[in-house]
Amino acid sequence: MRTFSGGIHPPQSKNTKDKPIEKADLPKKVVIPLQQHSGCQAEPVVSVGDMVKTGQKIGEAKAFISANIHSSITGKIESIKKGLSPILRDGWCITIEGDGTDEWVTSQKNDLDKLSPEEIRQKIKDAGIVGLGGAGFPTHVKLCPPCNTKVDTVIINGAECESYLTCDNRLMIERTNEIIEGLEIIKKAVGAKNGYIAIEDNKPKAIEKVKSAVKGSDKVFVLKTKYPQGAEKQLIKVILSREVPSCKLPLDVGVVVDNVGTAVAVRNAVLENKPLVERVITVCGSGISTERNLLVRIGTSFKDIIDQCGGFKKDVWKVIMGGPMMGLSQFSLDIPVIKGTSGILAMTLDERPDLRERNCIRCGRCVAVCPMHLMPNMLGLYSARFMMNEGFKYNPEDCIECGSCAYVCPAKIPLVQLIRFVKGKKLEHLRCKSELLNRK
Ligand code: SF4
Ligand code: SF4
Repeated sequence: MRTFSGGIHPPQSKNTKDKPIEKADLPKKVVIPLQQHSGCQAEPVVSVGDMVKTGQKIGEAKAFISANIHSSITGKIESIKKGLSPILRDGWCITIEGDGTDEWVTSQKNDLDKLSPEEIRQKIKDAGIVGLGGAGFPTHVKLCPPCNTKVDTVIINGAECESYLTCDNRLMIERTNEIIEGLEIIKKAVGAKNGYIAIEDNKPKAIEKVKSAVKGSDKVFVLKTKYPQGAEKQLIKVILSREVPSCKLPLDVGVVVDNVGTAVAVRNAVLENKPLVERVITVCGSGISTERNLLVRIGTSFKDIIDQCGGFKKDVWKVIMGGPMMGLSQFSLDIPVIKGTSGILAMTLDERPDLRERNCIRCGRCVAVCPMHLMPNMLGLYSARFMMNEGFKYNPEDCIECGSCAYVCPAKIPLVQLIRFVKGKKLEHLRCKSELLNRK
């Protein structure tokens, strides 16, 4: 079984793996952030009081790395102001009061054979598609390799290595053909010959369905269940034995990696002109009365969704957007679902770990599990003492913030937060250095 060196085996807790995707109720009101992606915020193209249909563009990408934003319901623009965001403390949001009709903007079907790679990328850009695995990187940018780069392989990432989350597993079981169509479209957009779908071995039903649906020379790779098996650099190393160099992207080694949800969204955008206004999320954790996989409109509040799952059943300690390893803790249930929300996880008070920090005992466990072969102990030590120049020598820019080091640390040192700090400083330093070199 293929895998990478390092990594951890947290409890799987995939309680919703057999729960089919259900449609969530149409929300009466949505709050749609204009910044749901990497890069620059979209600019609003509607005004307060305007009537909008479902799928109508309300925010436009004006920069190269940005994404369009669309209305996820039919109704009236109530406000355009700063509001809560799950990835920023606050950001510009458009609030829409629904009229209950859910009238979609008209669209026509397209024939893939008649579309050029440029037209495919334009349709993906128009539809506001971003990576649905959590990173939110605009997909049309990912599919624009520089002129001197040849992409030969597209990997569809169905690893879903985070505990609890099962939305990708359900998509592979229920929307298999859409994923395969998405893969073919992405291959055509970048001119790649090879198409692979990577799935961890804890999803036997998904493996069976995808294996029976793949076409031509495309292949399914079954990978060992281990966290973070779904990280881009680990997937590429495991499947193609190619190493993405420090500070470089998969494109630099001729590969595009997209999540299974992104493949479905790409297929809908290109073949049906359907913008990204809804996504599948897993609502899970021992704090949730009924755990479910739901197809949810972007902008629906966490509270609305948790209520549709019967509310909280115990005292909840933490609500996380995403999985327990890389997800973001939220401070309010008024937070809206965005394109990168893969799950809502509610953990209870009796699951609260002992977080009292102690001194490093130099056990080396963090070094043994780091999938990027870093020395988290040294990075944490120098970051805590604000010794940036020493920390820079340990390559913090290569940290993928997977949290494996913190998970195994017996001293409960908040290694990810400490490493994120020194990583930010190093990236800033590298940016300044390259600007200076460019000026010379
Ligand atoms: S140092 Fe970074 S990449 Fe390595 S285990 Fe820790 S969080 Fe993951
Ligand atoms: S796991 Fe924790 S205690 Fe052990 S070496 Fe790493 S930082 Fe130190």
